[in-house]
Amino acid sequence: MATSFGKKQTEPFPAHDHDHRGCVQQALDRAAVVCSGRGARLTEQRRRVLELVWSGHRPLGAYDILEALSGEGGRVAPPTVYRALDFLQEQGLVHRLESLNAYVGCCATDDTGHAGQFLICQNCGVAAEIADTRIEAAIRDSAAEAGFAIARPTIEIEGMCPHCRTGDA
Ligand SMILES: [Zn+2]
Ligand SMILES: [Zn+2]
Ligand SMILES: [Zn+2]
Repeated sequence: MATSFGKKQTEPFPAHDHDHRGCVQQALDRAAVVCSGRGARLTEQRRRVLELVWSGHRPLGAYDILEALSGEGGRVAPPTVYRALDFLQEQGLVHRLESLNAYVGCCATDDTGHAGQFLICQNCGVAAEIADTRIEAAIRDSAAEAGFAIARPTIEIEGMCPHCRTGDA
């Protein structure tokens, strides 16, 4: 698999019994590095929202996040959650999946900007990010040829993940 990531983190579709705490820790560590490198403020609330997006590998809707935050006692208004998600998106830490109206943590381990392509399992809902520079280049070239200005380059592909296909989900 060609990838623009500095280091491949895990399988695109990690096993269901993988150590997910490792994924969360890696994402939070990267967020701290990315934000401090840019002088962007990763507030406690933004960090918590990122952690919630990383609850698993299934994209979460803003209201799922809002509910989880509210369950923790603090009263949180929807705009707060949306602002935090906007911030995380701007910093390249989460991606928004239009087809699901949901957010998923970015799996990149470096700080390069990328559009993100997602393989979304219609059975278990897990979304795996593949960041293939060949796909991005092909789209950029085709769009330029068409005189088209790309606003949202993220690609969402639906199908069935290897675990659901083999029935070990
Ligand atoms: Zn994980
Ligand atoms: Zn990404
Ligand atoms: Zn699946």
